Amino acid sequence: MIYLDYAATSPVPEPVADTMCRVLREQYANPSAQYQAGQAMRRQVEQWRETVAAALDCAPERLSFTSCGTEGDVWAIRAACWRNRRTGRHIVATSVEHNAVLETLKWMEREQYAVTYVPPRADGSVDADTVLSAVRPDTALVSVMLVNNELGNRYPVEDIARRLRERFPDTLFHTDAVQGFLKVPFSARTSGADFVTVSAHKIGGPKGIGALYIGERVRDPRPLLPGGGQERGLRSGTEATAQIAGFAKAAELRSGNLSGTFARLSELRAYALAKLSEVPDLRVISPRTECAPHILSVALTGWPSQNVVTDLSAQGICISAGSACHQGKPSHVVKALGLPPRVRQSVIRLSFGPETSRADIDACAAALRRHHDERLPML
Ligand code: PLP
Repeated sequence: MIYLDYAATSPVPEPVADTMCRVLREQYANPSAQYQAGQAMRRQVEQWRETVAAALDCAPERLSFTSCGTEGDVWAIRAACWRNRRTGRHIVATSVEHNAVLETLKWMEREQYAVTYVPPRADGSVDADTVLSAVRPDTALVSVMLVNNELGNRYPVEDIARRLRERFPDTLFHTDAVQGFLKVPFSARTSGADFVTVSAHKIGGPKGIGALYIGERVRDPRPLLPGGGQERGLRSGTEATAQIAGFAKAAELRSGNLSGTFARLSELRAYALAKLSEVPDLRVISPRTECAPHILSVALTGWPSQNVVTDLSAQGICISAGSACHQGKPSHVVKALGLPPRVRQSVIRLSFGPETSRADIDACAAALRRHHDERLPML
């Protein structure tokens, strides 16, 4: 199988799987238990927290484990609105956030919040000035993702956070960093964000574990789950120890060679751009600069993306038609770019990881060319 869908999820490297298996087999004690094995597990969980916090560049006590990136997004939005419930009931977000954010904002709208959705420019980039001009004195929260999961654009979150603090010091700032964490240079500590969401399965960790950074401006944050008081009383539920161990191992592996992986993926993306430009009718949708190196969206203009994905799948090549969350219809992100319908319905996403090779790209480019030559355009 040729796997080019790392933005949907990533393979789990052996050291990560081995770490998890060891915890499942040998270290099954509950970290809340009083006996020695439980206390040892408690210390282990805190060490794993330190590893993930170091990768995100924040203090470990600011980081709570969650069950996934979606949970982190939901929690951040609810906690920010709760904290600023006396400030106002207005939220600003880009219109190209992940559905985990957008669907939560719909909830908030049902709870009488007003949301201003800031559209991207035609190249998918987001203008910090436009975001800031949407902020009002009653804005409780601004939410802008770090890297767009369909296009790969890296958004100016540090600039937005800094200017927001200067002009509206009470407004809180959340960034969904699920696609940017350990993919582009980023520090939770210096970003100016009050909330940062990450997820393990995009960086070679297991599914079912993520984390939320809550900055020190958010004193006494609203807990997500009441109960046994785990995660400093913020998110109850017995810790998913094997998943946390896998998350920490994946973060350690990725952060150990971050600049090397960044350089290799950037080179691979440039190679893919050159190789794919040889395919007739292929149009590049992703930006060429200000982007993460692992995501490349293109359109085989005239050939419906679903058919392309199915045809490549039959040849053992995994790519996606936009985000894995919107299968079957052009996503809200692609729609927001204002592309002509023929292009819009042809958008496919290739995404890479440390295991991707030039041969994988060559095979994908050849399969796209075959699809172009052997199938009639339907759009
Ligand atoms: N945010 C972004 C930008 C994503 O790409 C994803 C997953 O694709 C999520 C949030 C949701 O993360 P999870 O699958 O861990 O719930």
